[in-house]
Amino acid sequence: MKKGALSEMSENEMVDIEQAKNIAAMSQGKFQVQSIVKDVFGLEVPVESVPLPSRGIIYSSDSPLYGQETLDIKAMTAREEDIIMSRAYIKNGTVISELLKSCLIDKRIDPNDMIAGDRNALMIALRITGYGANYQVECDCPKCGKDSEQSFDLSQLGIKRLAVNPIVEGSNQFEIILPVCKKTVRVKFTTGHDEKEMSTVQERKKKMGFQQESNVTDKLLNSIVSVQGITDKSKIGMFIKDMPVRDSLALRKFLEDNEPGIDMTVNMKCQHCFEESEIKLPIGVSFFWPDK
Ligand SMILES: [Zn+2]
Repeated sequence: MKKGALSEMSENEMVDIEQAKNIAAMSQGKFQVQSIVKDVFGLEVPVESVPLPSRGIIYSSDSPLYGQETLDIKAMTAREEDIIMSRAYIKNGTVISELLKSCLIDKRIDPNDMIAGDRNALMIALRITGYGANYQVECDCPKCGKDSEQSFDLSQLGIKRLAVNPIVEGSNQFEIILPVCKKTVRVKFTTGHDEKEMSTVQERKKKMGFQQESNVTDKLLNSIVSVQGITDKSKIGMFIKDMPVRDSLALRKFLEDNEPGIDMTVNMKCQHCFEESEIKLPIGVSFFWPDK
């Protein structure tokens, strides 16, 4: 528009300018950007409500996750493809967290605050809305050890909702009395933050040349909050090393039986030995890159 043309503008042009101003004002927030995409290109990004296995009751009452039976996510777009292909995110293991952050409608939520089962529920919902429920992946046959391609329907995976009560609502702490030593132990379900810390510790141990795998004790150290009210991590560490094996088993069984999440147990039929086996669904490259 030429300088000074404002006074000669018709009424119609005035309306256009008003609209442009509104759009500029709206584009301050993310939600409005989406509505522009919708207004201009007619693209509507679908939003889906995903049930949380934890039912939200294990999150602290000041968290935006507290009491959320479901969370809203938007379907993946090209923006999210950038995230899943980012070398930097892949290298430091933050792809899934970044992806979840980008797709959660409530931007106050930090996906790392969520327990693994809730993150899995969102991840599977994102995969289904983005690429469909059919998932083809190479699986190891437990009977003969050979690989074969299997096809699964992700929409058939069951949800395992939290069925035990935390010590108080709004806390991720559960109490169990060990069968042999009779000590009262409080445990929690590990979050994204805990898993990050655990992989850093394991990485460090590997660099220092530790050969012995310590997955069992590491997992317990991450899950145990207190023993008889003692919360000191190094004391808990010593307790774990001397714990009778039956107590260790009972503790791991409690965590496994009660951890809310998606039941990833699936059946495969081996293409080599034709045996059927129950396996844990492997999350491979084709989960978010179905065409590779
Ligand atoms: Zn086989």
